[in-house]
Amino acid sequence: MPDPALNDELREELRRLENADLLRSRRMLESPQSARVVVDNRPCLAFASNDYLGLANHPAIIAAAIAGVQAFGVGAGASHLITGHSSAHHALEKDLARFVDFPAALLFSTGYMANIGTVTALAGRGDAIFSDALNHASLIDAARLSRADIHRYPHLDVDALGKSLAACRARRKLVISDAVFSMDGDIAPVPTLLALCERHDAYLLLDDAHGFGVLGTGGRGVLEHFAIQSPRIIYMATLGKAAGVAGAFVAGSTELIRFLIQRARTYIYTTAMPSLLACAVSASLTVIADESWRRQHLQRLIARLKSGFDSNAWRLLPSDTPIQPLLLGSNQAALRVSAALNELGILIPAIRPPTVPEGSARLRISLSAAHSEADVSELISALREVEAHCLNEPAPAMRNAG
Ligand SMILES: *Cc1c(COP(=O)(O)O)cnc(C)c1O
Repeated sequence: MPDPALNDELREELRRLENADLLRSRRMLESPQSARVVVDNRPCLAFASNDYLGLANHPAIIAAAIAGVQAFGVGAGASHLITGHSSAHHALEKDLARFVDFPAALLFSTGYMANIGTVTALAGRGDAIFSDALNHASLIDAARLSRADIHRYPHLDVDALGKSLAACRARRKLVISDAVFSMDGDIAPVPTLLALCERHDAYLLLDDAHGFGVLGTGGRGVLEHFAIQSPRIIYMATLGKAAGVAGAFVAGSTELIRFLIQRARTYIYTTAMPSLLACAVSASLTVIADESWRRQHLQRLIARLKSGFDSNAWRLLPSDTPIQPLLLGSNQAALRVSAALNELGILIPAIRPPTVPEGSARLRISLSAAHSEADVSELISALREVEAHCLNEPAPAMRNAG
């Protein structure tokens, strides 16, 4: 049998990606997520995860997962609407709603699924979605799948959004935005977005994947940070980042949650997340609330990195969150700097298009409460050394940086 044409086409496409420095590869992690990890057989200091509070390997959360597996077994065995919905899921939904101060909440298996399910349930043909240009891929895909008219506004441009909302005659209007932008670390102007939604009778879906657990003195996320709440807000957050486990939830009115149970396809047509994960997340909520030192320590690390970077020619993008991107521009530059840091035992992945816009490749430095002040000092010295080297020698040999 001849080799099917498809493989030739795929090989060609992969070659094109490689030539454009866009080929991605997977590193292999051989330890729990932490400040120091073993990757591809080498120990290194990592600024590369979304485990912002250092909870992915927390003993109390591990213990809750083990108790959960003993009580409920491994697999949920069915979707929530058949027999997969356990008392652990149910209790967690109540805890989550209370934690973020909404009447009700619904668990999803992933954040990607939460966004797809929620947006497609709420908006359809004849409706309008207003989407920040730098929104996460899951929100972009959700808007496309919904078949609503999509109005994309420039990043954080509330004037453009206001004009677009004012001109819109759609039946239902939904503004969707990352609360903390995943590759930039900046925070959406939520009070202004909300005021616009109120003025133009629109609803606001906030994706707080990177704010939940991190923002606000209690870690309750972006709404605690701004001290606002509104029945116009539909709140979504993920549980695999600062919460250290897996999954996501949507919070809002009881009507919203009852409706999503009927209509969110990524909720209905999928097996429930294992109950042991719900048990682990419940324990994580307690740690997030009780161990506020983690947020305080994280803020100190953020301040230290920013001030330690003052003297450099390279600039961090303006961000007050644990996401501290170093903009490098070309894919090749981002790969080169990432590889040079790797030589010094520091892991920071290069982020390239299409994850970020063309010509804005960057290192996404992410800090965690698991890091020490000494870890951040080590990072600053390594960045200075690599910067000096790059400025003097424009083209060192390139290693595979993923
Ligand atoms: C990570 C992320 C998601 C997806 O969440 P998962 O649980 O990883 O699927 C959604 N939105 C944003 C902004 C994210 O950063």
